[in-house]
Amino acid sequence: MKRIVNPVEFLKRKRDGGRHSSSELSAWIGAYMDGSVADYQMSAWLMACFQRGLDDDETVGLTEAMLHSGKVLALRSVRRPKIDKHSTGGVGDKISICLAPLVASCGVAVPMISGRGLGHTGGTLDKLEAIPGFRVDLDARRFERTVKQVGVSMIGQTAELAPADRRIYGLRDVTATVECIPLIVASILSKKLAEGIDGLVLDVKAGRGAFMKDRKSARALAQALVRVGRRAGKSVVALVTDMSAPIGRSIGNALETREAIEILRNEGPADTRELTLALGVEMLLLAGAEKTRTRARARLEAALASGAALECFRRMVSAQGGDLRVVDDVTRLPRAKARLAVTAKQSGYITEIEPYELGLAAVALGAGRTRADQRVDPAAGIELAVQVGDEIEAGAPLAFVHAKSRAVAAAELERVRASFAIGKKRRQTAPRVLETIV
Ligand code: URA
Repeated sequence: MKRIVNPVEFLKRKRDGGRHSSSELSAWIGAYMDGSVADYQMSAWLMACFQRGLDDDETVGLTEAMLHSGKVLALRSVRRPKIDKHSTGGVGDKISICLAPLVASCGVAVPMISGRGLGHTGGTLDKLEAIPGFRVDLDARRFERTVKQVGVSMIGQTAELAPADRRIYGLRDVTATVECIPLIVASILSKKLAEGIDGLVLDVKAGRGAFMKDRKSARALAQALVRVGRRAGKSVVALVTDMSAPIGRSIGNALETREAIEILRNEGPADTRELTLALGVEMLLLAGAEKTRTRARARLEAALASGAALECFRRMVSAQGGDLRVVDDVTRLPRAKARLAVTAKQSGYITEIEPYELGLAAVALGAGRTRADQRVDPAAGIELAVQVGDEIEAGAPLAFVHAKSRAVAAAELERVRASFAIGKKRRQTAPRVLETIV
């Protein structure tokens, strides 16, 4: 590893618009992790990156330096192609929970390391933990064994994987340097590549409920992720998907897990199913399990119809200590004490459902966190009675608010009601998948 002669000289280079070599970036991250570069110096560098940018070579160098700041899983005993999916986060995004077992049931290994909810978006781990007993803290050996035996395992980020990202992300969060494409790319890819995968499908969300608010910036992020991921030697594809309304009909942990199980039962909302299939198609193609989109889709549909995908989910729940009875009887998932209806004040068609506000309302109901150390209420959330394009009569329910008490639920009723726009004309619903970046 090349030594950083002088951190101040390194900082000046980026401040003045210069570039760093891969070995310098590796030394910089190494020096940060061993304490020779201070948080304030790293923060200054992050701001310089935000202002000056990093080119693709530098982003690859940074990704690899962050990746090698910790352990990189090899999953050598898993013989099948290993493909994962990462979503940049949305509202009602329960796709991983149905997608991972579905794809695994088609012969592809899915080693998935996910996160918890923070901000207005939920997290896959919190949703899985709504299943009583489900453990997301398997150690690396048990994770590998589960992927080998079941085809899929879903666990949380461990302190050993890409630890530099955890520390740097903490600084970015408080220094206004999160919204910087090369830093986002290095952050996401360093964590995902530490899983020992062969390929990655990215779901980059665009819209009010997403991190990237418009399609152009979502596309730019998707393109950068694909370019840099490939340069790092992985097969990577990205879908840019719409996040202008919540996905499906549920927001909140147990409610979303329930919807994901419905999808695995070959039921559930059409948009949730569509997104699951679209991402699954790309995963099967990357794995080489199918050669064409048509065949890949048919294989996924057959796995849903035959019950093979549900069976794979059942085996994962069992391997991770969850209560299997939930799979056949979703009423065993945690249920809130209070369930209040939010009704429409006028008749018409649903023209908008504001995802950001609903995400915040779900957090306030207890489904999410405002601080990383808070516990979530698995039963809290919002059940949507309608989707964009549906017709509604005045007085009919728009949604049901679930919370631990009537008082907590009642406090969010108006915010939830205001999240639905009702117009005179039916609005065509946009497809969830906006574009594919290959
Ligand atoms: N998600 C991540 O994991 N990292 C970022 O920088 C932004 C979103």
